[in-house]
Amino acid sequence: MPMRQYSEDEAVDFLVIGTGAGGAPLIAGLAEGGFSVVGFDAGPWFRPLEEFASDEQEQNKLYWTDTRVVDGANPMVMGGKNSGKAVGGSTVHFAMVSLRFRPDWFKSRTTLGYGADWPLDWREMWDYYTKAEQALKISGPVVYPWGPKRPRYPYRAHELNSAAELLGRGAEAMGIRWTPTPLATVSAPRGDSPPCVYRGYCRFGCSTNAKQSALVAFVPRAVKAGAEIRDLAMVGRIEVDSSGRATGVHYIREGKWRFQRAHNVIVAGYAVETPRLLLASATDRYRDGLANSSGLVGKNLMTQSNQAVFGTMQQEVRWNKGPPSLSLTEHWNYDDRKDFSGGYCWMAQGPLPVEWVTVQTGSRGLWGQKLIDEMEKYNHQVGLKMVGEMLPDERNTVTLDDEVDQYGLRVARVTYSWGDNDKALIQHALSQMQTSLEAVSATDIFRQENDTNHLGGTARMGNDRRNSVVNADCRSWDIPNLWVCDGSVFPTVGGVNPSLTITAIAMRTVDRIKQMAKRGEL
Ligand SMILES: Cc1cc2nc3c(=O)[nH]c(=O)nc-3n(C[C@H](O)[C@H](O)[C@H](O)COP(=O)(O)OP(=O)(O)OC[C@H]3O[C@@H](n4cnc5c(N)ncnc54)[C@H](O)[C@@H]3O)c2cc1C
Ligand code: SF4
Repeated sequence: MPMRQYSEDEAVDFLVIGTGAGGAPLIAGLAEGGFSVVGFDAGPWFRPLEEFASDEQEQNKLYWTDTRVVDGANPMVMGGKNSGKAVGGSTVHFAMVSLRFRPDWFKSRTTLGYGADWPLDWREMWDYYTKAEQALKISGPVVYPWGPKRPRYPYRAHELNSAAELLGRGAEAMGIRWTPTPLATVSAPRGDSPPCVYRGYCRFGCSTNAKQSALVAFVPRAVKAGAEIRDLAMVGRIEVDSSGRATGVHYIREGKWRFQRAHNVIVAGYAVETPRLLLASATDRYRDGLANSSGLVGKNLMTQSNQAVFGTMQQEVRWNKGPPSLSLTEHWNYDDRKDFSGGYCWMAQGPLPVEWVTVQTGSRGLWGQKLIDEMEKYNHQVGLKMVGEMLPDERNTVTLDDEVDQYGLRVARVTYSWGDNDKALIQHALSQMQTSLEAVSATDIFRQENDTNHLGGTARMGNDRRNSVVNADCRSWDIPNLWVCDGSVFPTVGGVNPSLTITAIAMRTVDRIKQMAKRGEL
C-alpha cells in the first residue's frame, strides 16, 4: 500500500510519538477524521509474514532493550518483560488478553477508599470498550461472567487447551467462576488475518497475522487514511516556543538529527519513555520538564503483580499449544475480605521452552542436572499467573539518569518498591492459585514470587491541574497543544491487563479532539 509522506517543513496537524496500544488508534482515528498525521516510532516496521521467526531468541528484536537504570527495593526487569520497540509497540509481542476495568476502579478513591479517582465515567468507557473490542475483533465468550452487561464479543471464543481446562477444573473445585479469555487474536478469518493456528508464539510476535496487534489492526487503517508512519525515528526532544506552545520534535533517523514541525504533539511512548521525553524536553520556562507544573511527571509509576504458581501433572498437558492465557478467573477482594485493597485475576499459562528455562534459572536458581530434570517435565507442567493491582505511590518514579544512550540522550532511571498492600495482595493470590492447582492434583508445586509486568502511571490524568498531568481528554494542563495518551495516563492500574483500556481511551481522545476542532478549541 503506498504511503503519504509529509515534508519536515510542513507543520502537520498531529505528530504522534509511539505507535502502540495508545498511539496507533490515535494515528488511525485522527487521519480518518481528516487531520494530517505523522506517527513516529523508534523501532522498526516489521512485516510478520516475512520477518518473524518461530525462534524465541531471534524475536528479542521486538523489545526495548536500550539501557535503563533500575533501582528501589524491588528493581523492575526491563526488556521483553516490560516494553516493545517496534511499529505497533508492545502489542506486537503482548499476550492479547483484552479485558475491561471494573466500573468501581474508575472511582476507586471515592467508592473503595484507595488509589485515585479517574476523571472518566465508567458508562462512557463502556461504550469505548465496545468500540475497541470491535476494532480489534476480540474473540470471547458469549457471556462474560463479571461486571455490567456488555454486547457479545465480535468473534467466538477460542477452543480451550488442556492448561485452560485445568484452570476451569480448579476454579470449579473452589466454587469460583471462570471463563474462556477474551483475546485479540481471531477465531475466524478477518481480512488478511487467518484464524489463529495455536502454535503459541504470541509473545514473540505472531508470524501469521492472526494476532490483532496495533500493527495489524490500526496501522494499515492509518496509512490508508493518509497518515505517515516514520519508523526507526527516535524522538529526543519536544520543542516549545516562547509563547509556550509545542512547535514540533527533534528526532534522529539514519544517524542524523532532524526536526518535524507540527501544530499538535501527542506523546504515546508508554510509562517509561513518555516521562523520559517530557523531562528531557525541559526549557528555561519549563525547568522541571514539559507538562510538569504538578510535579507529577514520572511519579506514581505502577506495575502489575505477575506472580505465578506452577506444578506438574501426571498426564501430558502441552501447555504451550495455543495462546498462553486461554482461560481466566477474576477475584475482587472487596467482595469477601478487607485486609488489603485492590483486585486481581489469574490466568492459565503456557510459556515456551526458553521462557520456561528463565523461570527455572532466574526465579528458582536451578542449574545443571536439576535444571535438566525439570525441563524434562515440560510437557506435563501446568501454571496459573496473576495480574494484580499495585497501588500508586509517588516514591515509585521514572527520572533522568546521567548515563546516556546510543543517541546521546539521558537514559531513564526506574525506581520501584512494592508497598505493604501490594505484598498482601500477592500473597493472597498465590495461596488461592496454589489451592486451585492442588484441587486438580498437581504435584511439585512451586511459586514464582518475583514477577511483575504491565506499566502504568507517570503522567496521570485527573480533574485538577494541581494533582494531575493531563485532563480527561489527555490534554496537558500547561501546554494546550501537547497531549499524552498511553499507559502513563492511568491514575490506577486495576487488576486486569491494561491495553484494552489504553486503546479505548485513545479512541475516546480522537472523538474529543474532533469535537474540539469543530468548536475551534484546538
Ligand atoms: C510480555 C508482555 C505481555 C503483555 N501482554 C498483555 C496482554 O495480554 N494484555 C494487555 O492488555 N496488555 C499486555 N501487555 C501490556 C501492553 O502491551 C501494554 O500495556 C501496552 O502495549 C502499552 O501501550 P502504550 O501505547 O502505552 O505503549 P506501547 O504499546 O509500548 O507503545 C509505545 C511505542 O512508543 C515508541 N517510543 C517510545 N519512546 C519513543 C521516542 N522517544 N521516539 C519514538 N518512539 C518512541 C516505542 O518504540 C513503542 O513502540 C503485555 C506487555 C508485555 C511486555
Ligand atoms: S497461537 Fe495464534 S495468535 Fe499466537 S502466534 Fe500462533 S497464530 Fe498467532
